Amino acid sequence: MESWKKLKIPVIGITGGKGGTGKTTVAINLAYLFSRDNKVLLLDLDVDAPNVAILLGAKLKEVKKVKDFIPLFNENCTFCGECQKVCRAHALFQFGENLPTLVPELCNCCEACKIICPNNAIDNGIKTFGYIHEGSIYNNIDLLVGELKIKEPRSAKVVEEVKDYAIEQINNNGYDIVIADTAPGAHCDIVIALDGVKSILSVTEPTIFGRHDLERILQLIEIVNKEANSKIVLNRADMTKEKKIIYELAKKYNSEVIEEIPMDNAVLKSYSEGVPVCKKFPKSAAAKAFNKLYNKMRGSI
Ligand code: SF4
Ligand code: SF4
Repeated sequence: MESWKKLKIPVIGITGGKGGTGKTTVAINLAYLFSRDNKVLLLDLDVDAPNVAILLGAKLKEVKKVKDFIPLFNENCTFCGECQKVCRAHALFQFGENLPTLVPELCNCCEACKIICPNNAIDNGIKTFGYIHEGSIYNNIDLLVGELKIKEPRSAKVVEEVKDYAIEQINNNGYDIVIADTAPGAHCDIVIALDGVKSILSVTEPTIFGRHDLERILQLIEIVNKEANSKIVLNRADMTKEKKIIYELAKKYNSEVIEEIPMDNAVLKSYSEGVPVCKKFPKSAAAKAFNKLYNKMRGSI
């Protein structure tokens, strides 16, 4: 797996322990604001439910399939059952004098069955479990979107492949900045997405759920990328009177709330039209807050 560390341009990771906090809204608005003076590569690494392109109203085309090994059984098989025994994913079933049966959705492509087979009875098959799509919008924003195929479990592999593909594109296309929108949660997909990122924005909201999930992501950042400049964006800041719980947590993790984004109907209206609020309603309260966030980020990367 390639690392963001090898890049000379800044990479901002937008994350958040909880879904629905407005991570993608922050990502698309920052991308839009940066794109006025910079060539931006915007990545959607929320491969289970990618929606960056929808929120930007961008058209996508598939550029790559994410593929890996699956076993194909041949006539050398003696029905010994060794492959079934070694398959920890329980993806193989072998009864009597029949070729093993594979449940492709359970196969994690580890190749243990092929390695253990004493009779060279397993050929290389290919399984597609995800896709990489690309698109462009507003002249200066290129998108790369990872998508996990329905029923497939290997989201981390798709994130890894999008990241590798992105690094290839960055080296060839002269981008000025990368903005990477991660999945919610605190799991492998986020670890891969944030590994080597220099600036991280964790988006949260002023609720006990927001606090709980923010703590999980701040803990994860401490483990996987302690050197990153890690800040918090408090979205829908005036939704409750509980924002002090987020400020207290920020202090506990030596971070800070870099910006508060207010509740604003302009965000909902622009959201439903697939346009960043900073473009559609540049004078709205939310757009002003996003501009403040952008200026702070521009000064710190
Ligand atoms: S280990 Fe090889 S020979 Fe044995 S059942 Fe599996 S495919 Fe057939
Ligand atoms: S590749 Fe691994 S997971 Fe898939 S069937 Fe073989 S042993 Fe099982």
